Amino acid sequence: MIRICMSCQSDLGKVESQIHSPETITHGLCERCSEKMLYESLGQPLEEFLDSLGVPVLVVDSARRMQTANQAACDLLGKKREDISDRTGGDVIECTHAHRPGGCGVQVHCKTCTIRLAVTRAFETGEPQLGIPAFPDIQFGSEIKNFCLSISTSRVGEFVLLIVEDMRVAAEPRQPERTCDVGVS
Ligand SMILES: [Zn+2]
Repeated sequence: MIRICMSCQSDLGKVESQIHSPETITHGLCERCSEKMLYESLGQPLEEFLDSLGVPVLVVDSARRMQTANQAACDLLGKKREDISDRTGGDVIECTHAHRPGGCGVQVHCKTCTIRLAVTRAFETGEPQLGIPAFPDIQFGSEIKNFCLSISTSRVGEFVLLIVEDMRVAAEPRQPERTCDVGVS
């Protein structure tokens, strides 16, 4: 995979990948643009900087809540910016598990959620997680659709950027299963 800076398009180097072709492009922020996001954007809304990136990006805080997102992410998820800020990742993508009692983060499924793990690893190690395939079940009213996402995460200061490189429907819709799952803490 080729990794480029979302802001200045500079080359961040090649990345070995078992699942992606050498031509696949993945995104991050170079050091200079990370500093721009953290410091220069203080003078202007952070959203303005994020909107300039052109790739769907969500900003996650250390409590694993979405701080904000850029317009491309809002368009992709069909949500307004104010419906994303201070919400969990599961709420934002309408993950079917987030609709269960206790919500996103405490379900049995959440322990193996690849999106959650990619965010956590970026926070804990500072290492970007690149081109991670994720297959969330997303709720549309009474229907559930299995989606295929490719995500990357990158820590910038106290935040992790959750970059949605690709998002498409993976399987036919189905009715919600009856379940007796209980939340775990
Ligand atoms: Zn850059």
